[in-house]
Amino acid sequence: MPRASSFSRFTRGVRHTVRAFASTRHPVLVHIVPMRRCNLSCTYCNEYDKTSDPVPIGTMLERIDKLAAFGTSVVTISGGEPMMHPEIYGIIGRIRHHGMIAGLISNGYYFQPDKIKRLNEAGLDYLQISIDNVTPDDVSKKSLKVLDAKLVNLQQHARFKVNINSVVGGGVANPEEALIIANRARELGFSSTVGVIHDGDGLLKGLTPREKEIYKEIKQKGARSYARWNWFQDYLVDGGEYDWRCRAGARYLYIDENGIVSWCSQQRGTPGIPLMEYTTADMDREYHTEKWCAPTCTIQCVHQVGHLDAWRHPQVSLAEYVKRNGNGLSKETVARVLSSDQ
Ligand code: SF4
Ligand code: SF4
Repeated sequence: MPRASSFSRFTRGVRHTVRAFASTRHPVLVHIVPMRRCNLSCTYCNEYDKTSDPVPIGTMLERIDKLAAFGTSVVTISGGEPMMHPEIYGIIGRIRHHGMIAGLISNGYYFQPDKIKRLNEAGLDYLQISIDNVTPDDVSKKSLKVLDAKLVNLQQHARFKVNINSVVGGGVANPEEALIIANRARELGFSSTVGVIHDGDGLLKGLTPREKEIYKEIKQKGARSYARWNWFQDYLVDGGEYDWRCRAGARYLYIDENGIVSWCSQQRGTPGIPLMEYTTADMDREYHTEKWCAPTCTIQCVHQVGHLDAWRHPQVSLAEYVKRNGNGLSKETVARVLSSDQ
């Protein structure tokens, strides 16, 4: 199994970035869900259940192989809580086996030293943990006090890069706590980012004046990469809209536990095509067509991917795309596209 040194991570990152700019015909980032179940029940979350089984490892490996065949750059495993999947290390190893960059989004509860060492061995490149508050409350138990010992484990044993994301907005009772979380992350040597909480469609909920101040303060102190890639949030925080081209379904894919391709976690079911049947024609359609939800969308990772192609290929409506390209698509896809355009 490959291990991820910072140098190999850097060189692979450069190689994938050059490829991403050079060609628009492959996914840059894929989020894949191996396990919908979660050990927590954050009240704002619509991405977990309490009953589902892990996706069998053979099925996960087939999906990873298909993403590699598409020429995907980065595969990030999310959930639910992906560390509950008993074969998470094999999934990461397969991503690295294909030369793709391997990321993981977790609530942080499972980072005992032995598990961190297995993640090192599997070759994990990046880990993101979202922390919502300092002490657990009715909304969320992704809390600094509960997780601090796990963060220290990560500081001592992880060879992969760790980012701590805090959030401001809707579900967080005390916005000041986001600052405490960001400061602790930097004290431990991790990078830190801040997100604005979204509703069930991935769209912005309003921020209070104090939440806006805290957001700006964390942003100023945060990772340099954050300022480079997340300026869209400034418009949304100030109550505006952001004019951009969402390339979800093409440059970014969300693959759920049933292997269905969606635009993103908040637009599940569209286009709703199984990954194993997904084609470059599907990606071409999604690359070139507008998304109704773009102006107030807060999904950071899809915005970041969108920057790569912001300067090229203006998008058109689905109806216009089908009029121009209908002959190149399957009958089922044309029917699906036309019905979603009503
Ligand atoms: S830990 Fe993450 S997946 Fe689990 S309920 Fe909370 S937000 Fe949802
Ligand atoms: S604009 Fe794109 S990323 Fe945002 S909610 Fe819509 S499909 Fe998802």
